[in-house]
Amino acid sequence: MAQLSDDCFAFSGPLLRLDDMERLINERILPIAETERVPLHGARERVVAHDIIAPINLPPFDNSAVDGYAVRHADLHGDGETALPVSDRLTAGARANVSLKSGTAVRIFTGAAMPKGADTVFMQEDVTVEGNRVTVPKGLKLGANRRLAGEDVAIGATVLPSGTVLEAQHVALAAALGLTEIVVRRRLRVAIFSTGDEVVEPGSIRDGAGVYDSNRFLLSELLDQLGAIVTDLGILPDDPEKLSSRLADAAAGHDLIVTSGGVSTGEADYVRHAVERIGSLVFWRVAIKPGRPVALGVIPAASGHSAAFVGLPGNPVAVFVTFVRVVKPLLRRLSGARPDRLVPLPVRSAFAYRKKKDRREYVRVTLRRGVDGEVEAVKHPQDGAGILTSLTETDGLLEFPEDVTTIEPGARVGFLSYAALIG
Ligand code: AMP
Ligand code: MG
Repeated sequence: MAQLSDDCFAFSGPLLRLDDMERLINERILPIAETERVPLHGARERVVAHDIIAPINLPPFDNSAVDGYAVRHADLHGDGETALPVSDRLTAGARANVSLKSGTAVRIFTGAAMPKGADTVFMQEDVTVEGNRVTVPKGLKLGANRRLAGEDVAIGATVLPSGTVLEAQHVALAAALGLTEIVVRRRLRVAIFSTGDEVVEPGSIRDGAGVYDSNRFLLSELLDQLGAIVTDLGILPDDPEKLSSRLADAAAGHDLIVTSGGVSTGEADYVRHAVERIGSLVFWRVAIKPGRPVALGVIPAASGHSAAFVGLPGNPVAVFVTFVRVVKPLLRRLSGARPDRLVPLPVRSAFAYRKKKDRREYVRVTLRRGVDGEVEAVKHPQDGAGILTSLTETDGLLEFPEDVTTIEPGARVGFLSYAALIG
């Protein structure tokens, strides 16, 4: 279970800035402690629990980076070609501990261990071979085309620090070091609900005032992509009693509960009050658009543990944006992962935009190449928070910082691709 501070102070200021929100999350939410040992295959998306120290050098031995001829640099003529007899032949995986005879060259292939005494490798494309003699040109630097033991990873180095979220390349690195298993934090258990009397399960009967539930599917896919174990708890009515009891039940057995809908200031927005009844709120309004009403809270369970709670707005685009900007940092914190290092890429805005100061805004855009070849961002024509196609027909989000109020066409702006946001 999540370990959460039981201090029930709730942020009560007007709107919480995203930076302050991340700080609050780090203060109030502690990572889960349980770990498990997993094989490399399938370790992707898992979070490294303890620093992984390199048990060997990588590469493990000096070796050739090319197919060619290994020589001793001191044997070469500084002012012209050098002809050398070829004294040995080393393919990758062939004998180690071969010695280069002074004044000779060794035929060598990529990945073969460097013979003792050799320090430089000529590429086969750069030499001429006649019988058993190779003639190498002048000018190659000492150490060229040689890969030194430990130049990638030195034995004893912290190579995968605790909190690393494993991707394919991390798993490959662990394998290159000869590891077969990694100790990771256990997966997070996340329960999801939709809320709203109008929200109907796809495939069931929908009357004139109903909408099919899309948020639960969005959340379930996003959480799954981030490696969580998702429990889909269905749709809750706008009924404070039912909301409280179902949320309290869900707190047992889950690290996090995520709901959508019912958190704004409308009269039928019971979620926030339900959480206040059975737990405590940490904040409920964030300076972000789309999405402003986002509640973060803590719900204690009978087992003595607590679950974190996030109530997202109901509009699907707001769900998406608040998921990537609020739920994802929270998930990373809970899972013991280091904070995301998302760097918006600079692109040119193809449109003018006005925004309120002091809140961060996200605009759905498509990228295209302008006439001068520069990448520019085009705003989706529909910017309502309920327009799902504005997410399916675009490439990502522009992020407009708090202090900005006006964006002119041609301005340099920051772009975050959906792939970067969700990965
Ligand atoms: P709310 O935040 O509950 O006021 O909902 C805002 C808007 O989002 C309303 O138009 C809801 O009908 C819509 N909405 C809420 N939940 C869902 C859902 N699960 N799937 C699709 N639309 C939803
Ligand atoms: Mg609602």
